[in-house]
Amino acid sequence: MAVGREKGRCAVVRRIAVVGAGQAGLQLGLGLLGAGGYEVTVVAARTPDQVRGGRVMSTQAMFGPALRAERAAGLDLWEGEAPGVRSVDAVLVPEAGVRALEFTMTLDEPAQSVDQRVKTARWLELVEERGGRVEYRELDLAGLRALAAAHELTVVAAGRGELAGIFARDAARSPFDAPQRRLSALYAHGVRAPDPAAGPRARMHAVPGVGELYLQPALTLSGPCDILLWEAVPGSPFDRFGDRPGGDEQLRRMRELMGQYLPWEAELWAGAVPTDPGGSLYGALTPVVRRPVAELGGGVRVLGIGDAVVVNDPITGQGANSAARAAEAYLRAIVEHGDRPFTAEWMTALFEEFWERHARHGVALTAALLTMPDHLQAVFAAAGEHEAVARRLANTYAEPADHAAWLATPELVGAYLATLG
Ligand SMILES: Cc1cc2nc3c(=O)[nH]c(=O)nc-3n(C[C@H](O)[C@H](O)[C@H](O)COP(=O)(O)OP(=O)(O)OC[C@H]3O[C@@H](n4cnc5c(N)ncnc54)[C@H](O)[C@@H]3O)c2cc1C
Repeated sequence: MAVGREKGRCAVVRRIAVVGAGQAGLQLGLGLLGAGGYEVTVVAARTPDQVRGGRVMSTQAMFGPALRAERAAGLDLWEGEAPGVRSVDAVLVPEAGVRALEFTMTLDEPAQSVDQRVKTARWLELVEERGGRVEYRELDLAGLRALAAAHELTVVAAGRGELAGIFARDAARSPFDAPQRRLSALYAHGVRAPDPAAGPRARMHAVPGVGELYLQPALTLSGPCDILLWEAVPGSPFDRFGDRPGGDEQLRRMRELMGQYLPWEAELWAGAVPTDPGGSLYGALTPVVRRPVAELGGGVRVLGIGDAVVVNDPITGQGANSAARAAEAYLRAIVEHGDRPFTAEWMTALFEEFWERHARHGVALTAALLTMPDHLQAVFAAAGEHEAVARRLANTYAEPADHAAWLATPELVGAYLATLG
C-alpha cells in the first residue's frame, strides 16, 4: 500500500485494478477516481476506437435507479441526447396476427438506452482523463494472477467471457443450466413511431411458446435509433437467426416474421434500415450465478462483479442495470472500508449484501418472466384492467426488489389481486 496524499476518506493511496471495461468495470473504476485516494488501473481488451468500430453488445435499457447511480458518478453524459422512455406498450399475441391483452406500463422515471459502443468507449477515455491508467490487453489467467499480486484489490468485470470461469458456479442460485431464449438484436434508423406525439415509448409483444419482441428508442453512434430484440424460444418459428446473417438479411427475416405474427409492427418497420454494419447482435446465454471470490493460489484472490458473476437473460433488461447497481454498491463498500485489508471475508460479505439487497431479485424476476407461472399470468391479465397494476409491473423491472413484495409467490399475488376489487 503506497503512502500518498490524503484524499477522500483514505489516508493512503490504495492500488486497485479493474479487469474489463464494460458497464461494471468502468463505472466502478471511474467512481474510485472520483472518490479520490485510489490508484486505479483498468485492463481493457479493446481501445475506444476498436469499441466504436465494433459490434453492438447489448440493448442496454437502463432504468431510473441505475441511471441515478451513473449520475452520482458524473457519468450521465448523454442525458439530453438519448430518448427518455417513459412507458412501455405491452401486447399479448395469442396467435399469429391477433392482438389480445393490451396495456401501457408507465415508469416513474424515464429509462434510457445508450449504445454501449458510445458509452463504454467514452468512459474508457475518461479513465485516463480523470487520472487512471488503462492497459490495453486481453488478460489470461497468468496475467490476472500477476496483476492481482501487484494490487491490493483486483475486481474482475470481464463479463461473460472466459475469465468468468474462475468463479465457481453457484448451483443453488443458478435458476437454469441452458439458454432459455435465442437472441437476435438489430439497431435501425427509419422506424416509424405508432404515435409520435406521445414521445419515446418502448413496446413489447409476447407470443406464448414462440417468444417475445422488444422495441425501444435508443442512442447509437449515428444518433437516435430504434432497437429490435427478438427473444426466441429455442426451436420456435422466431428462432431463425442461428446463422447470424448480415443486417439487411436479418431485417428482411424480421420483417417477414412481423408480417406473419405482428403485422401492425411490420408497417412501422417498412422504411427501416440497419444503422451500421456492427448494428446486429446474436447469441443465447445461460443465466448463471457464480461465487464472488476466486482464489488464484499463493493467497492471491480476486472479486467478481457484473456479468462475471451474475448473468440474466435480457428478457427483463436486468444485466446492465444490475452491473450499475453493483458498481455503486462496491464503490460505497470500498470507500467505507478505509485503509483495512481487502480480505476474502470482506469480499464475500460485500457480495452477499449486494445479492440480498439487489441481485437475487433481478434473477428471480427474470426466471419468472422466462417461465411465466400462472400467478404471473394473472398479474399481466390484471394489468390490462388496472392502470395501477401495469404501473407497478413496469416499476418492478426498474426496482426488482419489489418482486419479493408482490410477485414472488401465488399467495402474494393472490393477496395483492384481492385488494383490487
Ligand atoms: C442481446 C442483449 C440485450 C441486453 N439488453 C439489456 C437491457 O436492455 N438492459 C440491461 O440492463 N441489460 C441488458 N443486457 C445485459 C447487459 O448488456 C450486460 O449485463 C452488461 O453489459 C454487463 O456489464 P459488465 O460490465 O458486467 O460486462 P460487459 O459489458 O460484458 O463488459 C465486460 C468487458 O470486459 C472485457 N473483457 C472480457 N474479457 C477480458 C479479458 N480477458 N481481458 C480484458 N478485458 C476483458 C470485454 O471486452 C468488455 O469490455 C443485454 C444483453 C444482451 C446479450
